[in-house]
Amino acid sequence: MVDHLAWPFFEERHRALADALAAWLPDLPPAASDLDETCRRHARALGERGWLRSAVPEEAQTISARSLCLIREMLAKKDALADFVFAMQGLGTATISLFGSDAQRARWLPPVRAGRNLAAFALSEPEAGSDVGALSTRAREAAGGWRLDGRKTWISNGGIAGHYITFARTGDETRGAKGISAFIVPADAPGLHVAERIEVMAPHPLATLVFDDCRVGEDALIGTPGDGFRLAMATLDLFRPSVGAAALGLARHAYAETLEHVRERQMFGAAMAELPLVQEKLAQMATALDASALLVYRAAWARDTAPRRVTREAAMAKLFATEAAQRVIDDAVQLWGGLGVRRGSAVEALYREIRALRIYEGASEVQKLVIARQELQR
Ligand SMILES: Cc1cc2nc3c(=O)[nH]c(=O)nc-3n(C[C@H](O)[C@H](O)[C@H](O)COP(=O)(O)OP(=O)(O)OC[C@H]3O[C@@H](n4cnc5c(N)ncnc54)[C@H](O)[C@@H]3O)c2cc1C
Repeated sequence: MVDHLAWPFFEERHRALADALAAWLPDLPPAASDLDETCRRHARALGERGWLRSAVPEEAQTISARSLCLIREMLAKKDALADFVFAMQGLGTATISLFGSDAQRARWLPPVRAGRNLAAFALSEPEAGSDVGALSTRAREAAGGWRLDGRKTWISNGGIAGHYITFARTGDETRGAKGISAFIVPADAPGLHVAERIEVMAPHPLATLVFDDCRVGEDALIGTPGDGFRLAMATLDLFRPSVGAAALGLARHAYAETLEHVRERQMFGAAMAELPLVQEKLAQMATALDASALLVYRAAWARDTAPRRVTREAAMAKLFATEAAQRVIDDAVQLWGGLGVRRGSAVEALYREIRALRIYEGASEVQKLVIARQELQR
């Protein structure tokens, strides 16, 4: 059992979930030679075994933040790409799960929950990343539905998703949070093109999408026109602690590899673990892991148990856990010496994997602004 499962944030069902997942993890399919195929394989395996139900629930509005975080932490510790696939099935459907109509849930969620379709969340644009209010993709009402024009970039699962939750302006405003709406855009909608696939330092399917008079039906709108910014932020409130949980899993993997290494590696006539400076690093790493877990599961518990937004707690969890994981993994690389930077070593891969988590779903600087704003409002 994971040590922190004894903490009061958890109930028996979470411990049972973690035990069952730990028993299943060895069955995770091996990577295929092709990144897209590996993602599809992971989705099918996670869907067939029912794990995706925690990210794509059957009942409306019943996503458990604690289950989401536990599964992400455990998957990330085992296989970063499997965690990515799990997370995107949730992020690419949560706006529907939380705010969609019964008909939208019935149509779009089952294939994603089963792992047959991949899902995507398209908010960022070339000129609107951290500054979401600068987004300029437009949706105009037209006979029988909506027409979208604009460009989205850095879209995870871009090019392989079955649908894109897409945020576009429907109001007269040219910038700001007002007048943004959320749409479900099928991958085969006329006028939607994948402009380019983007390669990043750790394998991850990403693309830039172009909406060129892209036509969707009336039933593509989620919620009411103009409410899209609120829907996007509420979705991110749920997923930000889970990014912290993924960072925690990656850092735990690096820490476990490193503990083993320093016990075995001989240096100056003894095991490396006997050296005081090595012990100081281990102490810092272990403390950072526990502090991250406390903030991540505090945020998840607060979201599950309190009927309110947990913007402040979610931002703290993401900020602290991703920054701490970067330091833990950097220390791990240092303790592994030359082997730590050798291509293909576990800590070398983790060093590349962790970096983007401090940028996406709101860079660390954005989380600091969110926390400070919440503090000043209190
Ligand atoms: C691997 C990966 C996956 C992604 N997946 C998705 C996805 O699925 N869907 C989606 O919509 N987007 C996705 N993104 C986009 C991501 O959310 C953006 O990259 C992020 O919001 C930052 O936007 P930007 O890249 O435009 O950087 P910019 O907005 O240009 O920011 C650059 C840097 O400026 C700093 N900064 C930001 N605000 C401030 C401030 N107020 N004060 C000082 N400094 C500041 C930060 O360090 C930031 O990293 C993904 C990105 C990556 C790298």
